[in-house]
Amino acid sequence: MSSVLELARRDLLDLKAYSHAKWQPALQRLHANELPWRVHGDNTPSGLNRYPEPQPRELVKRLASLYGVDPARVLVGRGSDEAIDLLVRGFCRAEHDSVLVCPPTFGMYTVAARIQGAGVVEVPLLREQNFALDEAAILDRVLQKDAPSRIKIVFICTPSNPSGNPLDPAAIERICVALANRALVVVDEAYIEFAGVKSFTTQLDRFPHLVVLRTLSKAYGLAGARCGTLIGDPALADLLRRMIPPYSLPSPTIDAAIHALEAPQRATARARIETIINERARVAAALSECRAIRKVWPSAANFLLVDCADADRCLKAGMEAGLLVRDVRSQLGLPDSLRITIGTPEQNDSLLKALAAL
Ligand SMILES: *Cc1c(COP(=O)(O)O)cnc(C)c1O
Repeated sequence: MSSVLELARRDLLDLKAYSHAKWQPALQRLHANELPWRVHGDNTPSGLNRYPEPQPRELVKRLASLYGVDPARVLVGRGSDEAIDLLVRGFCRAEHDSVLVCPPTFGMYTVAARIQGAGVVEVPLLREQNFALDEAAILDRVLQKDAPSRIKIVFICTPSNPSGNPLDPAAIERICVALANRALVVVDEAYIEFAGVKSFTTQLDRFPHLVVLRTLSKAYGLAGARCGTLIGDPALADLLRRMIPPYSLPSPTIDAAIHALEAPQRATARARIETIINERARVAAALSECRAIRKVWPSAANFLLVDCADADRCLKAGMEAGLLVRDVRSQLGLPDSLRITIGTPEQNDSLLKALAAL
């Protein structure tokens, strides 16, 4: 048995996947109880009357090539959110196991853990060190002897949401070394395309308990399509493939993602990423000149975390200009903060104008 499966729920190891209708596009489909006609206006390549291909081969192949990994390591799902959910369900026994998160961070890790009945252990990022990982505290908590609950998954989000900073790769690597055979280390790289740093996919051969999450929702502009990729040990990917709902990815999503990964669309995506990166620098510089903004945190993502003199007034000024920004004040360590997504140059100008007037 692959070492990473030693961490999985034992009761799932022999799970048989739902036996879905065979995928043989050359043959006429009289085996899935579908209607043989399309609905009016259905111009999709495969027809919405047909069930989609589970783990569609062409899409998996293209994602594997985009991310530079073996397709056997890939699980594609409805956003990375689905991958997070499957990881927690596959590795945490309800009421026995826990996940570890580093707040302020992405909220889905905790939501998925709560739904599964898993515990949530929090080791905050160190605000005074520019939201760095508290490496020693993470290792302490996971390796703690006779803890009441066993930590099975450590979620690390880099670049971090909502603080925007990339976390120290050397620290993440040391955490991977120390937690071999003890816990999964899940590195969520939802914003890495904006960061110009190396992906942890390059470390997968060293660490079977390392899992990398990527998504088409941010840099590739497909948030509405819902397409995320989990990249991990082939045995872990195989377990999650048996757990994922059989027709998880809708066919319009599959078509949209395959299209987005063709060369011309990839070139457009690269150009847009460049634009966002340039705008990020421009907006950050302009915001730090605003009296309403006390601090602009450094960001390697497509958003900026700012501390406000009066966050309510900033929110209101944005709304009056027709612009929504994210109120993150309920998150640990962010009592005056807002998170501002970088938009088009025109949108950014409107926001800067509204805030400069305060
Ligand atoms: C947006 C985001 C995701 C992406 O979720 P999808 O389900 O793929 O849309 C994952 N992780 C973080 C930290 C995010 O901010």
